Amino acid sequence: MEKKDINWGELGFAYMPTDYRFVSNWKNGAWDDGALITDPNIVISECAGVLQYAQTVFEGLKAYTTEDGRIVCFRPDLNADRLEASCKRLQMPVFPKDRFVEAVREVVKANAAFVPPFGSGATLYLRPYMFGSDAVIGVKPATEYQFRILCTPVGPYFKGGVKPLTVRISDLDRAAPRGTGNIKAGLNYAMSLYNIVDAHNCGFDENIYLDPGTRTKIEETGGANIIFITKDNKVVTPKSDSILPSITRRSLLQVAQEYCGLEVEEREVELAEIGEFAECGLCGTAAVISPVGKIVDHGKEICMPAGMTEMGPVTKKLYDTLTGIQMGRLPAPEGWIVEIM
Ligand SMILES: *Cc1c(COP(=O)(O)O)cnc(C)c1O
Repeated sequence: MEKKDINWGELGFAYMPTDYRFVSNWKNGAWDDGALITDPNIVISECAGVLQYAQTVFEGLKAYTTEDGRIVCFRPDLNADRLEASCKRLQMPVFPKDRFVEAVREVVKANAAFVPPFGSGATLYLRPYMFGSDAVIGVKPATEYQFRILCTPVGPYFKGGVKPLTVRISDLDRAAPRGTGNIKAGLNYAMSLYNIVDAHNCGFDENIYLDPGTRTKIEETGGANIIFITKDNKVVTPKSDSILPSITRRSLLQVAQEYCGLEVEEREVELAEIGEFAECGLCGTAAVISPVGKIVDHGKEICMPAGMTEMGPVTKKLYDTLTGIQMGRLPAPEGWIVEIM
């Protein structure tokens, strides 16, 4: 298969249409067979549920080339499970897990020419999503839905090397207790846009959100979960019902225990204790882990001992181990790597 003429190393994180996308429609209470299509545009009612009441959910995962030349993706079954939870919360139909994984395979295979070669650091980012497509004017769920998977090649996350982030403690909240913080819905991002633009304007890379109930505990950032490393090398991650269950974070915790022999704690993390940690990182599909060098709480700077030039040693070990599993250098736990071709 001939690869597309793309300068893989220079790609950023931006949308570039590929040749095919997967589409399936829900109508009269059932999903159709679904198909790969070439048209990147969607025509829907001006009154579609997604446009009026934001009835839309999404996922994100990557397909990439391993060291031995296979095209694989990482734990797509967990994306299917999480999409199911998101759909149920927004009163949307569930796209069956086996069909989800099959659709991922189909769309990656059809776009194999866009899967970056091993060593480029680039990947093919997959964006499964679903939205209410028929007209609703009174507040109620749509009756028709579209499920799609688009993909787009994206560049290496740490272009020009790792650079620890400076993040601030946010004054705005992300997700209410018993709200929708634990599902991957567009609405959780719409309301974060003002705050991320403001953070960037103020010189910060990200916002750390606190629990809105008491504003004393750490939750997550706008699009990534948080891990901390204690001075005695324990991996600590905040526990809360309004955190989005990151697949990367869950995988890292398992890797920490089973591959690195580290102790792991999922518990409430107080804002008041973060000065005691040795390392901090943000986890998500795009970066795996981005190290945090500095957390600013209203003028008070909390500098991680790991510093502003590289990943801390434990963060680095977790990063190298998980990316080693993903790239096929290390044996993977059963079912983590799904081979596509
Ligand atoms: C998608 C997402 C993450 C990261 O999840 P991964 O499955 O690791 O990519 C973290 N937080 C939020 C709010 C998200 O939407």
